[in-house]
Amino acid sequence: MWIEPLMWTIIGAVMGSFYNVVIYRLPRKIPLSNPRYSFCTSCGKPVEWYDNIPILSYFLLKGKCRHCGEKISPRYPIVEVLTATLFLMGSIEYGYPEKLLYMAVISSLIIMAFVDLEFYIILDTCVAILAVAGITWKWLDGELMQALLTGGVVLGLTFLLARFSRGLGYGDVKLMGAMGTLLGPYGFIFALFTASVVGAITAGVLIALGKIDLKTKIPFGPFLAMGTVLSLHFSKKFFGFLTGGV
Ligand SMILES: [Zn+2]
Repeated sequence: MWIEPLMWTIIGAVMGSFYNVVIYRLPRKIPLSNPRYSFCTSCGKPVEWYDNIPILSYFLLKGKCRHCGEKISPRYPIVEVLTATLFLMGSIEYGYPEKLLYMAVISSLIIMAFVDLEFYIILDTCVAILAVAGITWKWLDGELMQALLTGGVVLGLTFLLARFSRGLGYGDVKLMGAMGTLLGPYGFIFALFTASVVGAITAGVLIALGKIDLKTKIPFGPFLAMGTVLSLHFSKKFFGFLTGGV
């Protein structure tokens, strides 16, 4: 049936639109409820409902504010398309109640990643949602002990790594602990490996293009988020393939 996936795609686009507000406001300490309306981040004028339709409005407005003509960040349509796409994928891949946990995980990963990209901070709230969703999910799967153990081991090892080396922040440490709980040992290794490889390639390309140099700080959170999503969808198939299983 296509009605439910379609419904989740629309919910994803609408939630993505809300996450854009969260991504903009939380690190700037602007309350989510005040002002209640969306506003242009350049001129401050309220955005009318017909200019606030997820994904579509950005293209209808040609990426510019109707009032001041200032460019609207491409982050807005990107977050909306990303949330809609992942909600669609999750709604097809998982049944209830795992589906709802997946949506919570995706939501906190998207908010965490885009805030980290801009502010170099990993929001504790997002990590906490990830950890709670992960523990609940693994409890449903009957793998609670293994999940808690993985989270604990990852937390300990990455804490030492952050303590004695530069480059890894304590936000990353907490995030990876939550990922360990959510993904279990194999899923976590898959996510960390994917995040590191894509992170290294991205840094290499940006250095080659002269956009950054070796000293530029690159947030790891967005790569860890991507690794987590890929792991949720592909790690079981990957390890199943390796061990000759289904
Ligand atoms: Zn404006």
